[in-house]
Amino acid sequence: MRIVLTGFRGTGKTTVGRIVADRLGIPFLDTDQIIEERAGEKIPAIFRERGEAAFRDLEREVITSLPGDCLVVSAGGGAVLDPVNVAHLRRGSLVVLLGAGEEAITKRIRESDRPSLTGRPLSEEVGVLLRVRRPAYLRAADLCISTGEMSPEEVAGEIVRFIREGPSSPGSWEPGQRFLEMIPLPERDRATISSILRGTGDSLAGICGITGYPCSHSRSPALWNQLFTRYGLPYLYTSFEWPAIGEVIRGARDLGIRALSVTIPFKEEVVDYLDEVDGDARAIGAVNTVVQCGGVLHGYNTDWLGIRAPLEDLRGARAAVLGAGGAAAAAVYALLSLEMEVTVLSRTVEKGERLASRFGCRAGPLTSFGDLDPDVVVNATPVGMLPDRSSLLAMEDLEEGMTVFDLVYTPPETPLISLARRAGCRVIPGTEMFIHQAREQFMHVTGIQVPETLIRELV
Ligand code: NAP
Repeated sequence: MRIVLTGFRGTGKTTVGRIVADRLGIPFLDTDQIIEERAGEKIPAIFRERGEAAFRDLEREVITSLPGDCLVVSAGGGAVLDPVNVAHLRRGSLVVLLGAGEEAITKRIRESDRPSLTGRPLSEEVGVLLRVRRPAYLRAADLCISTGEMSPEEVAGEIVRFIREGPSSPGSWEPGQRFLEMIPLPERDRATISSILRGTGDSLAGICGITGYPCSHSRSPALWNQLFTRYGLPYLYTSFEWPAIGEVIRGARDLGIRALSVTIPFKEEVVDYLDEVDGDARAIGAVNTVVQCGGVLHGYNTDWLGIRAPLEDLRGARAAVLGAGGAAAAAVYALLSLEMEVTVLSRTVEKGERLASRFGCRAGPLTSFGDLDPDVVVNATPVGMLPDRSSLLAMEDLEEGMTVFDLVYTPPETPLISLARRAGCRVIPGTEMFIHQAREQFMHVTGIQVPETLIRELV
């Protein structure tokens, strides 16, 4: 397996990389050094004479042509900002993010001749760039090591331990095993997970999965495992169907699980078990994506992006959201981000009013649909999901020119979608939300931007 080290300048990529290469008896390459050799000049001169864009082009060329064999690569500090680089660096690799605090980095690179990227004084520049780059660093890493208090030898030791012993840290091995014994898993996945955890998973470095109750029917494992194969990522994606989200999260920490997709009924409850939750997920009050890096669990919400993407051309429209649960909250957030005028219509009216008041929009009973004359309708209830064959709206509620988005995706052609199609509406089936939210989720977990056409083909 190839080992790629990423992180800001001054985090020790080159020093640590050389030690790891030495211990494993494999070659070491530094992308910045290759760029300088190919360009025939030092990086400060490339920036000065040709500009940053030309440097990034050279960097992409070098990364694209890296050998895929057993070797250690130190990648330039800004390399993972480009998803194309990430896809190349990740193929058949273990990507290790080396982190350090602002002060430590500033101290380590004070003497460097590298050009400023922001024109600010060094200490300010480090802080700004670290904040901007952090999401890209986290997404592109399989293993995150905070190097602040560690010597280069200790950091290298940690990387070699991960390769030989797997993602579970030594003290968590036993509780992790107890979790695995307790939880029902597809039998083939259980054997693969055990070998990953014993460090005998050959080229497999990590575990991802969906968690919910129920979730064994989910299409996510099939989609994710196909994507992992396409992009040469050393991961297995499985299904952790279990009634207590707290136990799954503890198991995820013990086993060093890289990422979880979270589904019903845990999207709200899971927030309490995470270390960091991003602003969108906090505003919606629900997390559907958990990513672990360096023992820290980060929460995101990609559902709202899956609802927003197919409606982007309807900015400013009048919208009705049916339902007042988690998907409805994501829908309201998405529609408001498109400056729509939103009304929440729900069976339990107080619940709809509570949701509407959080976002400053209107609410009412489902029976008031006829008074609204909306341009857009989003069904965020399970009505119409198999085996149910009913629709909350009748033919006479729907009219030509309306856009009807049914978030239910089993079956793809729900009773509401059929009625809307017959009434001459523009229809958006729930598979559209699934496709767009999965694309964003894959980006959070891997840093790779999958073309929409590929996800459609695989779904
Ligand atoms: P939830 O939190 O349980 O909320 C469900 C909402 O639907 C509640 O407001 C509930 O009203 C209402 N409801 C349930 N049965 C109803 C009925 N017979 N008549 C009227 N209202 C009814 O569920 P959720 O997480 O928001 O998910 C809702 C649906 O969205 C799911 O069933 C799923 O099909 C869909 N979804 C799709 C995707 C995708 O990728 N396409 C992703 C997420 C969710 P009460 O409060 O009165 O019970």
